[in-house]
Amino acid sequence: MKLIEFFGPSNSGKTTAILKVTEIMRAHGFSVATLKNTRHILNYENDSKDSMNYLKAGSSLSIVIGKNESILHFPKRIPLFEILDHLRYDFMIIEGETGFPMPKVLFLKEKDGLERLDNLTIAIVGNADVAIRKIAAGDFESLYTLVISEAKQPLPGDDCGHCGFDCKTMLAKILKGEKTFNDCVKFSEQHATVEINGKRVPLLPFISSMILGVNVGILKNLKGMNHNGHVKIEFDFKV
Ligand code: SF4
Repeated sequence: MKLIEFFGPSNSGKTTAILKVTEIMRAHGFSVATLKNTRHILNYENDSKDSMNYLKAGSSLSIVIGKNESILHFPKRIPLFEILDHLRYDFMIIEGETGFPMPKVLFLKEKDGLERLDNLTIAIVGNADVAIRKIAAGDFESLYTLVISEAKQPLPGDDCGHCGFDCKTMLAKILKGEKTFNDCVKFSEQHATVEINGKRVPLLPFISSMILGVNVGILKNLKGMNHNGHVKIEFDFKV
């Protein structure tokens, strides 16, 4: 799942933009989850309103994270065992700053909010005299194109420092093209990916670890498997 964050002052158009971009993404066949991050104690009646609107716009899962609690909002009644399956989405658009390393879009309210520009901000919605990609308020097609092309899979976010940086600095370097996700030691160590006929199959983290563990267990006993690297295994099968 690829993530992107829309942040900026209150009433700068984030919620409307998420509603419109979600509708456009659904129309293009993408699955989208939405997340609203706030710092206050949640009031279910008020805080579920935007969440319900995101579901109406086509979001398959709408999450609200408050100061002390969180709401996960699905558009239907689902058995518990299916809940994990619902975490397989193409994209997640997040409203509000989470502090998690991910590309961010800053929504300005006139000039208000410009002080929040940082090295993970890839674009602003509004107008300001800064050297960064600008999108006009209300131009939801351009915002959609930006989300599709610039949202990124998450880094682990635990600042282990094995790459020589913290996760935010590493992501800033990835966004500039100076590094790739494979330069994150944990990311490349912990992930197995599966493609069937060229299409990436979404994997829950524990399934990815299981595939990795089983294959590394087999491969490390083979001659010549005495170094780290990228391993590709391909095979044909019929069910
Ligand atoms: S190696 Fe990965 S998890 Fe560790 S600090 Fe670097 S980017 Fe973050």
